[in-house]
Formats: sequence, C-alpha cells, structure tokens
Amino acid sequence: MPPLPLDFIQSADDLRQLPATKAEVTVVGRSNVGKSALINAIGNRKRLAHVSNTPGRTRLLNLFSIGEDITFVDLPGYGFAKVPESMRRDWQRMIDGYLLGRENLVMVMVLVDGAVGPTNLDIQMLDWLRAHELPHTVVATKHDKVKSSARNKRKRQVAEKCDLEEGDVIWVSSVKGTGIDRLRSLIVHWVA
Ligand code: GDP
Repeated sequence: MPPLPLDFIQSADDLRQLPATKAEVTVVGRSNVGKSALINAIGNRKRLAHVSNTPGRTRLLNLFSIGEDITFVDLPGYGFAKVPESMRRDWQRMIDGYLLGRENLVMVMVLVDGAVGPTNLDIQMLDWLRAHELPHTVVATKHDKVKSSARNKRKRQVAEKCDLEEGDVIWVSSVKGTGIDRLRSLIVHWVA
C-alpha cells in the first residue's frame, strides 16, 4: 500500500477548537516512544511531525488529514519527567476529554516502545481505554532495535503485559519501514 496522503490541518490546545470530522484515528504514547517518527513514516514524509522531544512543542493536539475522509490525530505524549505536575494534569485532562468526547473516533493506536517493553503508564492507558470501552490497537515501535535473537521472546512479553494475543500487537520500525505498510492498510480498514 502506498504512503497515506497525510497533510497537516491544525494544532489545538482546546477541544473546542477542533473541527467536525467524518472519522478519526488517533495515536497516543509516552514521550520518546517514536510517535513523530511513525507519523512521518506512515505519510512517507521527512518532517511532517517534528521528531522532537521538546515538551513545549508536543503539548498540543495535532490534526492531519488523510485524503478527504480520514482525520489522523496526534495526541500529546504522556509521561514527560521534566514537566510540573500541574501541566501534566492539564495534558491528562485534554487527552481524556478528547478520547471521551469525539464522536467519530474509530481507533486509538497505543504506541509502546518495543525496545523497552510496555511501561506502567502504557498499561494504565490500556486499562483506562478498556474501562471506557474505546476501540484500541497496540503498536510496538522500534522493531529494529530488538536483536533478532530476542524478538520472539520480546513479542511474547509485550503481548502478555498488554494482556493480548501475540498476533494482536502490530510491530513496526519507522527506521527500517517494517510493518508500516500493514499499518497503513489497517488505518484505511478501520475507517471503512
Ligand atoms: P516521540 O517523542 O514519541 O514523538 O518520539 P520520536 O519520534 O521523536 O522518537 C524518539 C527517539 O526514538 C528518536 O531518537 C528517534 O530517532 C528514535 N526512533 C523512533 N522510531 C524509531 C525506530 O523505528 N527505530 C529506531 N532505531 N529508533 C527510532
């Protein structure tokens, strides 16, 4: 499947600024999980989403269009160690508000760092999504960083920690392109 035609629409720090959309797929993950790199890989664009770990820049909701019918939403990364507690609470409120408030949200992609495995924050996010019965898919990033000899074991561990079957976790590498095509097909399939 060719790259998805991702185009930046707008950033927002308030849910009320968001336009009505037909169907939304969103992506969440802790900071540094490889979210920007993955968005760029899906669109086959070098700097569409800044590969940046600066808290100020990643605090907003970023909206992209994929063709006419799909909106792709990049939620702020959670779990920055360096930000004040009050700011973290504001982000959490915005993320929760978004996830609970968007009528046309069809899928939440939860990124976990494949090189380090799911963190407690990732598991909390999954528990929260399950408690609210929101559709979600776990995507494990940085496949290329896991040694091939360790891959089978790591795949089992990631699935187990997330309480999923191994086949339910989508493994990707934005650097090598592994799994990107499959993810593109899934995005199109989710909104169909
Ligand atoms: P974000 O904070 O979640 O947006 O994470 P970034 O996309 O900025 O990536 C964080 C770090 O992980 C950067 O140093 C990236 O170069 C690196 N990274 C992201 N994806 C991959 C990948 O697939 N493979 C490898 N080896 N490194 C990656």
